[in-house]
Amino acid sequence: MRRITLINGDGIGPEICDSVVKIIDASGLKIDWDVQTAGSDVIKTEGTPLPERVLESVKKNGIALKAPVTTPIGKGFRSVNVQLRKELNLYANLRPCKNLPGVKTRFDNVDLVVVRENTEDLYAGIEEKIDENTAHSIKIITREASERICRFAFDYAVKNNRHEVCCVTKANIMKLSDGLFLESFRNISSEYPQIMSREILVDNLCMQLVQDPTRFDVLVLPNLYGDIVSDLTAGLIGGLGVAQGANIGENCAVFEPVHGSAPDIKGQNKANPTALLLSAVEMLKYIKEDIYANKIEKALFKTLSEGYKTVDLDGNLSTSEFTDKIITNLCV
Ligand code: ATP
Repeated sequence: MRRITLINGDGIGPEICDSVVKIIDASGLKIDWDVQTAGSDVIKTEGTPLPERVLESVKKNGIALKAPVTTPIGKGFRSVNVQLRKELNLYANLRPCKNLPGVKTRFDNVDLVVVRENTEDLYAGIEEKIDENTAHSIKIITREASERICRFAFDYAVKNNRHEVCCVTKANIMKLSDGLFLESFRNISSEYPQIMSREILVDNLCMQLVQDPTRFDVLVLPNLYGDIVSDLTAGLIGGLGVAQGANIGENCAVFEPVHGSAPDIKGQNKANPTALLLSAVEMLKYIKEDIYANKIEKALFKTLSEGYKTVDLDGNLSTSEFTDKIITNLCV
């Protein structure tokens, strides 16, 4: 039986994890879940929101399903998400963004993929206070990390029958840092003549995405632009409740939704488990359990198409009612 780390998070994390584990179990796939707690709830007992045992578990199992984890603001702890990605060298953040059946949005036929560099840029956490009225944040861009993420994007395009990879920067202003990212993209793109390559400035991309997102296929971006643009693209397909994600490195992969721990709806049986469920479906495909992945995806799509939805999608089902509908549809 495959052993997988399950980080059940905090806020709505435990509720949506419960739902997803129940659905996977009902599909007939047996998984040996290595449950690891993290986040604000473990600080009291373990002194950190990300204990070493969590990292060890992911390293050992090589794969994790992760619900959102809150990092307390202003208490001196580094972001759990940033730390996890850094410690495990999960350099690629993959956020596929596709319309879901039954979820009405402004645009039909959205089908794009955001590939975000996960380890550097302004997220390297190098900041200094110069004086009372001035602070500096350092933006780090290296050729090594830029070429690695661009290669990942092109490889993804090849494996998934995509036609184009578009590099997103602000290289006209940040000529050295974004300029290096763009130069790395151009170097790597020459190795993939079968995939079209395109370049766009991030501000122009945002305008075009809200005008007509069908103009885009695979996007590759440095960390900060990737973070912002992937929330925008989540909005194109129905919002954070349905936006899946994955963090992938050489030796491990962590699958997690784009959304945070949504403390405003914690414990109310209101959260939409779809984003975590779709992340789990990608995880199952990643470990070559395609039969179960497709079965679960089909049951989810059928449920949504029949009009059964949680409140964030203007439906009226609770998390547990929505979960039960999906389980019923697994069996038909
Ligand atoms: P973080 O800083 O951890 O990302 P945040 O408060 O900025 O947290 P989210 O926790 O993602 O962002 O929540 C943003 C909004 O989206 C909240 O109103 C929340 O209730 C809603 N939301 C997020 N995820 C879900 C979900 N799975 N189901 C329903 N609503 C959600």
